[in-house]
Amino acid sequence: MKLVLATGNKGKLREFKQMCQDEVVPFSDLLGEFEIVEDGDTFAANALIKARTIYEKLGEEYLVISDDSGISLPVLDGAPGIYSARYAGVGVTDKDNLYKLIEAVKEKGLKSTPAYYTAAIAIVSKYGEYVVHGWMHGDVIDEPRGEKGFGYDPMFIPSGMELTLGELEDGVKSKISHRGKALELAKPIINMLRNK
Ligand code: IMP
Repeated sequence: MKLVLATGNKGKLREFKQMCQDEVVPFSDLLGEFEIVEDGDTFAANALIKARTIYEKLGEEYLVISDDSGISLPVLDGAPGIYSARYAGVGVTDKDNLYKLIEAVKEKGLKSTPAYYTAAIAIVSKYGEYVVHGWMHGDVIDEPRGEKGFGYDPMFIPSGMELTLGELEDGVKSKISHRGKALELAKPIINMLRNK
């Protein structure tokens, strides 16, 4: 079964390619670009919506994986959470979202505050559907630092570290990230399904 990734997010695709030994193909290579409406109210629900949509278009020869993820700040009652990709509005850039979150932290009069990333990875194949989760805890700060990673990475310092994900060397993030942890749980499931 061919492994297809149900995401159009370049940052996610880069990280999946780095973390998967197997070749993972973005759905747009097979189906072209189109938008999937994510109207679930959890990361898991949205990950399943994405993976099912692509699986239904591609068919039984494919094993589709998707990632729905985001950042949550307890001081903002969990925002932006599942709305991380559209925190600053619909059709905005990663930078717009980053600066909106920096402003929200500043408005609280804080220079830093705890935060965590969540990733739900859904796996859909003819043998059924699975969802696994991973988390990364740390703090967000009131300024962006570094150009690596994507999204909110320049303002996120993982627990026990001093650099932001925007500053850390390539390869460090995938070992500690929400996505890396979820993928470690997803891999045995993917292997099991491919060997059936
Ligand atoms: P999704 O594509 O609907 O799952 O939206 C995920 C959004 O959450 C991205 O657009 C980013 O804003 C944010 N996000 C998720 N994972 C990461 C990460 O590893 N680093 C930085 N931002 C992330």
